[in-house]
Amino acid sequence: MKKIQTINGLVDAEDLGFTYTHEHLICYPPAVAMKDDPDFELPHEDKAIEELKMFKKAGGNTLVEGTAIDYGRSPEALKRIADAVDVNIVFLTGFNKGRFYPNWVIKAEIEELKELMVDELRNGADNTNLKPGYIKCGSWYNVILPEEEKVTRAAARAHKETGAPIWVHTEAGTMGLEQLYILEDEGADLSKVCIGHSDRNADLWYHKKMAERGAYVGYDGPSKVKYYPDSVRVELIKGMLEAGYRDRLLISGDMGRKSYLKSYGGGPGFEYILKKFIPRLLDEGLDEEDIKAIWKENPADWLSFK
Ligand SMILES: [Zn+2]
Repeated sequence: MKKIQTINGLVDAEDLGFTYTHEHLICYPPAVAMKDDPDFELPHEDKAIEELKMFKKAGGNTLVEGTAIDYGRSPEALKRIADAVDVNIVFLTGFNKGRFYPNWVIKAEIEELKELMVDELRNGADNTNLKPGYIKCGSWYNVILPEEEKVTRAAARAHKETGAPIWVHTEAGTMGLEQLYILEDEGADLSKVCIGHSDRNADLWYHKKMAERGAYVGYDGPSKVKYYPDSVRVELIKGMLEAGYRDRLLISGDMGRKSYLKSYGGGPGFEYILKKFIPRLLDEGLDEEDIKAIWKENPADWLSFK
């Protein structure tokens, strides 16, 4: 039986239900990110609970939290939130991008970082017994910095040792293919890897190339009209389905700003995909089987330990 490691223990893959694969509940971004925009900080557990209840009420069952160690990950807060709302929460071990790394990560060897990830996956994070369910690594805009390559190699090795899946942060959807080469070089199973934020770079050819290599292509921009309208995302999704890659798509909202969350007085919040984007996809030609594949089967397959 395939198992997913949630903050409240192992869950059978078939019981995962409707899943968002990249969201944020609590984060304390580093000073450099706060200087860019304090909107990124999500400090309130009560608001996270309120937002998660809206997700549950709209039909959601599982939420994958994307906040990395260098972005103010808070396992104990996530545990309290998971206990307050009947939704599975899957959190991570690993790091976002070089710009955010603390000094100790920049100085660490690949093996030290791998050991940290393996220890968290097996024994728990931050001196708790709360176990992450996947590994995160990432890169910068059109470049993979040396310290980012080091974290990617550590992630691949921790994945090989534990069977945990990997989620890769890309900056504006660049360097996904290149990240796959590094992971492959370390012997990672690319069918357990998701290249996130891929729709920021709305280039269907690029997405198909990543899927062809076996990786999941993560879209997490629905509703973000400031980049481009959702019509572009709908066309990308249809293009992936037409190319036969329905089983390689993971779609979430990445509502990682106060201004995106209803509980903080913003919008469109966690309800958006369930209440507006999926009805629109059905209106534009997708069917219920497509929805089930993208939001239930694919997340369960990606998240189950190898
Ligand atoms: Zn995110």
